Amino acid sequence: MTKRVHNFNAGPAVLPVPVLEQARDEMLDYQGCGMSVMEISHRSKEFEGIINTAEADLRELMGIPANYKVMFLQGGATLQFAMLPMNLRAAGASADYIVTGSWSNTSVKEAKKLGTTNVVFDGKGDNFTRLPSTGELQLDPQAAYLYFCHNETIHGVEFKDEPLPPAGVPLVCDVSSDFLSQPINVDKYGLILAGAQKNAGPAGVTVVIVREDLLERTPANLPVMLDYKLLAESGSLHNTPPCYSIYMVGLVLKWLKGLGGLAGMYEINRKKADLLYKAIDNSGGFYRGHAAPEARSIMNVPFRMPNEELEAQFVKEAKAADIIGIKGHRS
Ligand code: PMP
Repeated sequence: MTKRVHNFNAGPAVLPVPVLEQARDEMLDYQGCGMSVMEISHRSKEFEGIINTAEADLRELMGIPANYKVMFLQGGATLQFAMLPMNLRAAGASADYIVTGSWSNTSVKEAKKLGTTNVVFDGKGDNFTRLPSTGELQLDPQAAYLYFCHNETIHGVEFKDEPLPPAGVPLVCDVSSDFLSQPINVDKYGLILAGAQKNAGPAGVTVVIVREDLLERTPANLPVMLDYKLLAESGSLHNTPPCYSIYMVGLVLKWLKGLGGLAGMYEINRKKADLLYKAIDNSGGFYRGHAAPEARSIMNVPFRMPNEELEAQFVKEAKAADIIGIKGHRS
């Protein structure tokens, strides 16, 4: 019997068993070609089928309009923290950032190295427990873009509605940790980025969805692997892409379609999150949720206990019950 644990790691994270089984079944011979997906050329018709189907399924699941490009890139979401300002913030321009936790804070640090960066909300003073209220944001109508992180993985703070940028300012979002977990209105965004390894597949591929007109902002002198325009025009095939990771993402997308798409996934996530928050809220203060109730994430549910000894005991007893990955982030 194969052992499978209850894996709560934020990412790399659990993958659906049917997806792993299909990958296993196709490991030595992908659809009769006599090779594994790890062994075929990225210029082969087999791989062309894999990447084109993955993109088509992603477009269908998320309802991505035709005037958006989809890219399968490398370097993780962290590289996007730098590529984004390099491509979309012209020299001398400023970009607005909403900081609701560790990951948007990390993104700001990269953006600051590269140019003018305006933090319009910083939740640090409240220990990253809350979201900004609408009236709280003083947004720059000339900003190159307005950035936010849809779900802060470590702090468990998740936006319910997108912040509203001033007219003409593109909204940019890191959805790494709640990618494909619920329906999304792509047309409200200028750019969406997500590392795959939390919800969409293994590590190694990062999905970037960008409105085509924004590609005109890419400066002419960027190194090729940092150049959105070139990467988008090459169909993510300027150089060798992370073929196997893209294949796995493709399998997860098919699995999601079978579940009823993102609306179906959202129902499952909401039910699971409700169970956890109910346990926290009905514990008489024994479990303390980190995020303010109105900001609570359906993906990451950080909570504390009366003391660290009890937390260590909790993690130990959970492990004995094959529940792993619940210790939380080292920070
Ligand atoms: N953004 C968010 C919201 C994340 O949770 C993470 C990873 N934990 C990152 C960005 C960084 O992703 P990567 O490791 O792919 O660079």
